[in-house]
Amino acid sequence: MRSNHLKTTENMKHFLQCAAFFVLAGTTLVFINGCKSNQKVKMEKELSAFIQNYESKAIPLTKEANIAYWNASISGKDEDYKKSEKLNIQLTAIYSNKDEFAKLKKIKESNAVTDPVLKRQLDVLYNSFLSNQADTAKLNQMIKMQTEIEKKYSNFRAEVKGKKLNDNDIETILKKSVKSDECREAWLAHKNIGTLVSSDIINLVKLRNEIAKELGFNNYHGSMNWLHCKRCQRLFVTFFEKIAINEYVNKPICRICEENFSNEHTSDGGALLSSQLIMPTFLKDLSNVQLKLIWQNAGIELSEASKIIFMGYSFPMADFELRQLLARNVRHNAKIEVVLRSQDKSNNDKDNSSAEYRFKSFFGKREINMFYNGVEDYIKNLNN
Ligand SMILES: [Zn+2]
Repeated sequence: MRSNHLKTTENMKHFLQCAAFFVLAGTTLVFINGCKSNQKVKMEKELSAFIQNYESKAIPLTKEANIAYWNASISGKDEDYKKSEKLNIQLTAIYSNKDEFAKLKKIKESNAVTDPVLKRQLDVLYNSFLSNQADTAKLNQMIKMQTEIEKKYSNFRAEVKGKKLNDNDIETILKKSVKSDECREAWLAHKNIGTLVSSDIINLVKLRNEIAKELGFNNYHGSMNWLHCKRCQRLFVTFFEKIAINEYVNKPICRICEENFSNEHTSDGGALLSSQLIMPTFLKDLSNVQLKLIWQNAGIELSEASKIIFMGYSFPMADFELRQLLARNVRHNAKIEVVLRSQDKSNNDKDNSSAEYRFKSFFGKREINMFYNGVEDYIKNLNN
């Protein structure tokens, strides 16, 4: 009651200050601007104080948690994983704090922060806190389950012909061996981790989705970095920022359609953006019109190119969709240039696990030039 009363008095004071200013200045415009800039100073000051307090807690704890995770994944020991789990629970407690989130929410909803760096910090903090506003018991349970799965992964050893092999051994076989049977056996043995962790992963997915739904999202992986306009089909993409979450937070609108169609039936041009997901698996759903267009345009460009330059790409066998695109569209007389780093060069000309071998065997009789001094050097020489 006391704090409400104080708040009301404060608001009244603020109103009177602005009103006085209004009377003196005599124009509505100045009245509004005066209040706005007061609000900006106030909110930016509050946010700066929030960030300072947050950093003093989050920075040391994040560092400690990362080191503990590193140690656990190196040793595989139960006690190291326990420590990593404990620190992650402590770290989550920072982000799940309801009072702190309320402060951020108030600042965000005021729309008064305009300094670009502060605004960016506000968005990142807001999203980090938002994803942790679920039931604490569930969040902690999620961390425990994740840690358990991590532990199983790092302690798993594939067994081939009675010998236990680590991930590096398996990768060496898959890279170097020319015997299909040997590769197949190593590959399948490595996949046995699936039976060990499958039920844990299914339970984790269920819990993550439950938490996401509690927060108002469709599912846990609904938060990535693409937004799609269903009206003009444009795709909005950001790096390092999961803007797809905005579909649920601030309901973004396609700025182009908003401008072009705002005089039609709806003020937003009927162009709310929705998230667009491509799952990180081999079985990608490329049925979306945008993705089809990107793929098709790439094909057209390739078919018209007399020279194709690959930079920093080692042409892995697993990229079968790209291989198929190139096979269909690259001209027989197209010249190929490949730019890689010195460490990508194989000492053995006949090394069939090298990138050079993969390029040469794929492009057959076309002229291929390999460059092993890195992209920077290659571009410098282009200018000369
Ligand atoms: Zn649009």
